Amino acid sequence: MTLDPSTYQCPEHPMDLTDLVAEALEDEGPPVAYLTLRKRPAARPFQVIVTCPGANGSGAHQLTCSGTRTQ
Ligand SMILES: [Zn+2]
Repeated sequence: MTLDPSTYQCPEHPMDLTDLVAEALEDEGPPVAYLTLRKRPAARPFQVIVTCPGANGSGAHQLTCSGTRTQ
């Protein structure tokens, strides 16, 4: 899976949220069509909500991340 943008960072904290975004997308699973079609699928837009852990043990909040993915 390739993401565009390739990294996500919280605008309020110095947190790299890329892994959380990737996890949220993994949970969706690939559409069945992608499993049967052999050709390379086009990039698809996505929007997921991830939870930023905040900083120093407080300030956790949800954040919507969007971009495109190429499976
Ligand atoms: Zn944050």
